[in-house]
Amino acid sequence: MSDVRQHADDIHDQFSDHIDVSVDDVEERLTTLVDEYKVPIDEARRSVTNHYLEEAGLEREDISRGGSEAANVEDVDEPEQWIDLTAKVIELWDPRSDSVAQVGLLGDPTGTIKFTKWAKSDLPALEEGGVYELRNVVTDEYQGRYSVKLNSTTVIEELDEELEVGDDTSEIEGALVDMQSGSGLIKRCPKEDCTRVLQNGRCNEHGEVEGEFDLRIKAVVDDGIDAHEVIFDKEATENLTGMSLEEAKDMAMDALDTTIVADEIAADIVGTYYRIEGPTFGRYVLADDVSELDGPADAEQLLIKARSM
Ligand SMILES: [Zn+2]
Repeated sequence: MSDVRQHADDIHDQFSDHIDVSVDDVEERLTTLVDEYKVPIDEARRSVTNHYLEEAGLEREDISRGGSEAANVEDVDEPEQWIDLTAKVIELWDPRSDSVAQVGLLGDPTGTIKFTKWAKSDLPALEEGGVYELRNVVTDEYQGRYSVKLNSTTVIEELDEELEVGDDTSEIEGALVDMQSGSGLIKRCPKEDCTRVLQNGRCNEHGEVEGEFDLRIKAVVDDGIDAHEVIFDKEATENLTGMSLEEAKDMAMDALDTTIVADEIAADIVGTYYRIEGPTFGRYVLADDVSELDGPADAEQLLIKARSM
């Protein structure tokens, strides 16, 4: 099902008890806004919802929230999902844009996630340390890191209770089975606060720029049950490979080719067993603490894996 169709379905569910409207009608309205007027989908959804609220003579509170489901922070692994979270505001940051009313970090027992609250959504202010039920927030993803957006359909309810915030550190023991593209000697955008990885010398946001070299590894580590995506930053990559950024640059210069660095690193680490600890960001684990193991830590698990293949 397409995204638009899914949203149309959600909206239809909210109104089907109140007015005679088909999913196709809703989808057509959304499609017009998204395709012809280039309105972002959450905006389009709000606008179409408002249209039907008016048609039905209802207030926002009158309609069911169909579509959003209660979720934990650790469940967030896909953008554009409408969910309900019960979370504590751990930290508020200064918004860097006028379009953002509040930005910060939310936490629940399963982990932490960034949130953004749009200025135009006209929602009550969240307080640092407060625990809230946040209904109808939408998930978003940027470079593998997930966040939630509070929008004008979001309902905020302050709860008079404590909520323990889990540290979302992962520990993985397993074989590093693959190194993904975008590993090795990379170039990042030098613009302030950008740091996007350049593709063919271009930043998605700033176009052609003089990149700055960096080292990183995006790897897949298989613990016998799941495959985990692990990111090694420059320091972790240097520690893991024993190759410094300077050495990597020299190596690339000699070969007139930056891909040689990734090839060297892959030859060194793919197939090796590691214990890796670090915080989880969306689907990635950031390798903070890495030690090499002799072999499979748990032969039993490997057997189970082998049988399942
Ligand atoms: Zn940039």
